[in-house]
Amino acid sequence: MSIFDKMKQGAAEAAKAAQQTMETARLKSQVALRQRDISRYKKEIGEAVFTAYMKDNITGSHDKAFQLCQQIVAAEGQITQLEGQIRRLKALKACSACGREADHQAHFCRDCGAAFPEESVLPPLQLEGQVHVLCGRCKAENPLDARRCTRCGSELASWQ
Ligand SMILES: [Zn+2]
Ligand SMILES: [Zn+2]
Repeated sequence: MSIFDKMKQGAAEAAKAAQQTMETARLKSQVALRQRDISRYKKEIGEAVFTAYMKDNITGSHDKAFQLCQQIVAAEGQITQLEGQIRRLKALKACSACGREADHQAHFCRDCGAAFPEESVLPPLQLEGQVHVLCGRCKAENPLDARRCTRCGSELASWQ
């Protein structure tokens, strides 16, 4: 591959990473909207019950409360779906030097140590149920089979 092809590939990957970053931000704002809806529904349930109570007819609020509870359950289901989409997106960054896939939170390639462009790095997310290797230098958690720290790029002790 010529140097120009490599540069073109690098630019395409940076654009892809930027697009994934934007998509993740969009999904996260969708999650925030649903969470706001849920708070609103809960408030509406309380108001409906209390208004009915003051009219001496608390059971008159049950239909409305039941409907709002169903809306909450639906919104929670949508949040779960959106979070799944976010998780899939975040594993799709490729190293422009060696082509290895990386988490979106990585600052450096886990194989060759090449630095990722700043705009492709997302804030750390909680990694659930995975075993990690701690970096001796910056204490960041890394995937078990990583050769280099994805946060600072230094070689991990397990490979030395
Ligand atoms: Zn690499
Ligand atoms: Zn490190």
